[in-house]
Amino acid sequence: MKLNERGMLIVLSGPSGVGKGTVRRALFEKRGNKLDYSVSMTTRPMRPGEKEGVDYYFVTKEEFEKRIKENKFLEYASFIGNYYGTPLDKIEEKIAQGKEVVLEIEVNGALQVKEKVKDAVMIFLVPPSKEDLFKRLRSRGTEPEDVIEKRVKKASDEFKMAYYYDYIVVNDDVDNAADRIMAIIRAEHAKTMRSIYKYKKLMEED
Ligand code: 5GP
Repeated sequence: MKLNERGMLIVLSGPSGVGKGTVRRALFEKRGNKLDYSVSMTTRPMRPGEKEGVDYYFVTKEEFEKRIKENKFLEYASFIGNYYGTPLDKIEEKIAQGKEVVLEIEVNGALQVKEKVKDAVMIFLVPPSKEDLFKRLRSRGTEPEDVIEKRVKKASDEFKMAYYYDYIVVNDDVDNAADRIMAIIRAEHAKTMRSIYKYKKLMEED
């Protein structure tokens, strides 16, 4: 893949309930069609209001495991008893087109991406406080109490993984959080290794 044709892979993680989806949607409104979202595949049941191919590709455990064997994921992980994974084919196509592709994924999968794609931009979204997060998880009302309990427990473990990320963004306000991510994307584009090919001529000797 030629350097000047490459897009950017942006990994957005953070504990359940922190508002990744909401921040992502606000980001897309600001950044427009430069951004593309990678729709994940999962074995978890569809929640009310979710759409096949928009929120996730919903598949059976057997189908998912078949795809693992066929190396069809950039990364995948098990999260509270269900599989989640990033389909590889579409990502490669979008990056080659020079798109900024957002992956909204949990921490174990994010680490696999970091390992494979060295220049992936790793962003960890945090809530203003733990209390705020737990309140949001409970008020979502889309899951039974035992699942909520598991997600609350899992969130505490996930916080510890923030050290592996390049940036930490607080979601105190959706609009502000999206603005901070925009600033990160702009700064990343200005990094020498990403932009040098555009200005090479300026640096050549007379
Ligand atoms: P939820 O069930 O709330 O939609 O997602 C549970 C967790 O799985 C969230 O942290 C979400 O970001 C993460 N997730 C969604 N898609 C993927 C994926 O493709 N790979 C990985 N590793 N995690 C994902």
